[in-house]
Amino acid sequence: METLKPETPEFELVNTWAGLPAAQQPEYPDPATLHRVTRELASAPPLVFSGECDRLKDRLAAVARGEALLLQGGDCAETFDRVSAETVHSKLNTLMQMSAVLTYAAAMPVVKVGRIAGQYAKPRSQPTETRDGLTLPTYRGDAVNGLAFTAEARVPDPERLLRMYQASSNTLNLVRAFTAGGYAALGQVHEWNRDFIAGSPLREQYEAIANGIDRALKFMEATGASPRAFDDSEFYVSHEGLLLDYEAPLTRHDPDTGRLYATSGHMLWIGERTRDLDGAHVEYFSRVANPIGVKLGPSTTADTALRLIDRLDPDREAGRLTFVVRLGVGTVHEVLPELVEKVTASGARVAWVCDPMHGNTVGAPSGHKTRHFDDILGEVRAFFEVHGALGTHAGGIHVELTGDDVTECVGGGHDLGFPDLFDRYESACDPRLNRSQSLDLAFLVAEFLHG
Ligand code: PEP
Ligand code: MN
Repeated sequence: METLKPETPEFELVNTWAGLPAAQQPEYPDPATLHRVTRELASAPPLVFSGECDRLKDRLAAVARGEALLLQGGDCAETFDRVSAETVHSKLNTLMQMSAVLTYAAAMPVVKVGRIAGQYAKPRSQPTETRDGLTLPTYRGDAVNGLAFTAEARVPDPERLLRMYQASSNTLNLVRAFTAGGYAALGQVHEWNRDFIAGSPLREQYEAIANGIDRALKFMEATGASPRAFDDSEFYVSHEGLLLDYEAPLTRHDPDTGRLYATSGHMLWIGERTRDLDGAHVEYFSRVANPIGVKLGPSTTADTALRLIDRLDPDREAGRLTFVVRLGVGTVHEVLPELVEKVTASGARVAWVCDPMHGNTVGAPSGHKTRHFDDILGEVRAFFEVHGALGTHAGGIHVELTGDDVTECVGGGHDLGFPDLFDRYESACDPRLNRSQSLDLAFLVAEFLHG
């Protein structure tokens, strides 16, 4: 992976976005500092390598072909002060436990991708925020400004891009350490799921799936087969590719293939607010070879989806493009069928994944942003129903979750209510499923997948 030298053809390609409108970028008061920071990033080592990105693209090609599921999950916004072995470990455990259940229910490999090691920048619907009569710039993620509600903290600081690189690198080191040489054996992960079920009010409902997994494990043992593919679990990292002053300088050239790669994460996605066809984000991501996601909200037309495919996946390469659909529980049946039908009819080979979080955010009476577990489950169910009716593949889920026992979303097996939001609301941005709500989601999705 080679750094790009100014005035080479590769350098020019990576920077074609620079003259285009770029939504949701911070306005830095000090351009000289930004310039120094981007130069430093341009010479920093890559965080991920081309071979890893290509392998993830192969795995996502299986999702696009209907032979695998994607499980993508993690915080809405990671924060610098929560990079710790414990938080990374509990998030990985949660994703592994969900993946074991979904693998069994779908009888398919599950591709595991964290919203992790780079999820530090947030698009916002409002540029400012007012509290007790004081109006300040909105928080845009730790990569841009501080969460504290003070004028000082909210000033965008380019130095934070270097901290983002460092925090991503530290997190990725933990991810690589925990997954090196295989994660926990499948039997162990299943034991953790047994512990979860034992403490769940819905334990009777979950018994059937858990017993099915018990029998499958015993069968494998009896045949002498070992669930190698699970034990050797591959895990990939992803984030929203929002800040082009971070992503572009970290682009590297693979001299063997001549291709360009964003090296800040394996998979990057373009958000609902920055997927403008004529904008800078689509332009930049059209130049790199990583697997790319695009969020599609309820106003997406089939024509827009087709044009995004033309821009981002002109070769119709399975695994290159994942549509992460976030419509809201009430809108899926109305909007999704036409999108899927027209995209499928065009011959494109995209993976379809359901983000059941971002269309279902509501305000609690207390003012907390929250989401109802039943809306989240309902959107996933509707997504699978639509694909089932069309004979297309519902490729998986993209969720905001944490391995910690926070209280940010309401409902789930323990039926959290609005008053519980006061207990442990720790998200720097959107409300996440806590550990047990995440496992509830996996078991309940498994139930309808398994029939
Ligand atoms: C997000 O994934 O946190 C996000 C902001 O999503 P969207 O672009 O779909 O609103
Ligand atoms: Mn979010």
